[in-house]
Amino acid sequence: MEFKQSSKLSGVCYEIRGPVVDQANALEEAGHSVLRLNTGNPALFGFEAPQQILDDIMRGLPEAHGYCDARGLAPAREAVARHYQGQGMSVDAGDVFLGNGVSELVTMAVQALVDDGDEVLIPAPDFPLWTAVTTLAGGTAVHYMCDEGADWFPDLDDIAAKITDRTKAIVLINPNNPTGAVYSREAVEGVLDLARRHHLVVFADEIYDRILYDDLVHHNAAALAPDVLCLTFSGMSKAYRVAGFRAGWMVVSGPRHHAADYLEGLTMLAGMRLCPNVPAQLAIEGALSGRMGIEELVLPTGRLGMQRDRAWEALNAIPGVSCVKPKGALYAFARLDPAVHRIQDDERFVLDLLLQEKIHIVQGTGFSWPRPDHFRILTLPHAEQLETAINRIGRFLAGYRQ
Ligand code: PLP
Repeated sequence: MEFKQSSKLSGVCYEIRGPVVDQANALEEAGHSVLRLNTGNPALFGFEAPQQILDDIMRGLPEAHGYCDARGLAPAREAVARHYQGQGMSVDAGDVFLGNGVSELVTMAVQALVDDGDEVLIPAPDFPLWTAVTTLAGGTAVHYMCDEGADWFPDLDDIAAKITDRTKAIVLINPNNPTGAVYSREAVEGVLDLARRHHLVVFADEIYDRILYDDLVHHNAAALAPDVLCLTFSGMSKAYRVAGFRAGWMVVSGPRHHAADYLEGLTMLAGMRLCPNVPAQLAIEGALSGRMGIEELVLPTGRLGMQRDRAWEALNAIPGVSCVKPKGALYAFARLDPAVHRIQDDERFVLDLLLQEKIHIVQGTGFSWPRPDHFRILTLPHAEQLETAINRIGRFLAGYRQ
């Protein structure tokens, strides 16, 4: 008898760790060295964990072997609440859920809200976890367009046109993965206004809120809309460079009294996973109150700032490739001019690139982008390595036909 995956998984798609990953693994097992430009894992590119984070975890480790409160350790939740109070949000530790990364909390937030047939507005391109968990929850991911010609800001008219009486929530990813867009206050307020008028929950995925270039400021959605139910997500994986520790948080703000039942569901889901990983939570308080080096890394002379510049320049130097300058996060989302590069199947393109050049990038359609004319590359490798890799992608494209 054959064991099959559940029908719940049909339609669930998660390309960042999809079939091309299996091929990359097979190449490595066969002895090839593959340049992994597919997942935003700073540790793979020589970014070290801040010493204070390691010290805080190691100091507390002997006492961290028991389960903790289902929502997370009180001192860590208090620290998260203080952090957001400092940004003008009216929240306390009771509004904070800690998780094994933002990913777990995203899954819980969607599972607890979405019924079969409910719709969630998700940006295109997206961080594909949002689409995958919405589909897994029985909901429908309705993608609203972000406008490449307008610095990849959300197209508010498109959002408005896609709101129906089944729409429950809207996802805002700012700074954005994969585009690197950092939204203006007006853009964030535009989305919040639609949520307010149509009684939508806002899922504000702000995991890159401290990875900002060009002196830009981040506009925290929940702080701008105290009258809208917002769930704000962030964590330690990116700005604090400790993705493997799996530590993230979710903060509920706005009119909680209208959401008592939803919050009860969330609390139950938090309890069903017993509790988040305890040792990683020991670093949250220190991380939020100290300087952890990200401020220097994003400067024009800092490692991330220089890599962002070099990637953007090298991508735009490839004939038939253009890229809007990323303003935040760790990625560049490049466009392949269809008049120059006639790519019908972008998954095949990244697979062919992997097989020939041993460079692993992710195709645009893996981010719910509707056409096979984009790809995402990380800006995490050192500038020279990044430039060499992008030049190799350029050479590959010059001789590539589908
Ligand atoms: N949200 C966005 C936009 C991301 O890019 C990522 C990871 O790449 C996550 C959430 C999940 O991060 P983690 O589960 O490591 O906290």
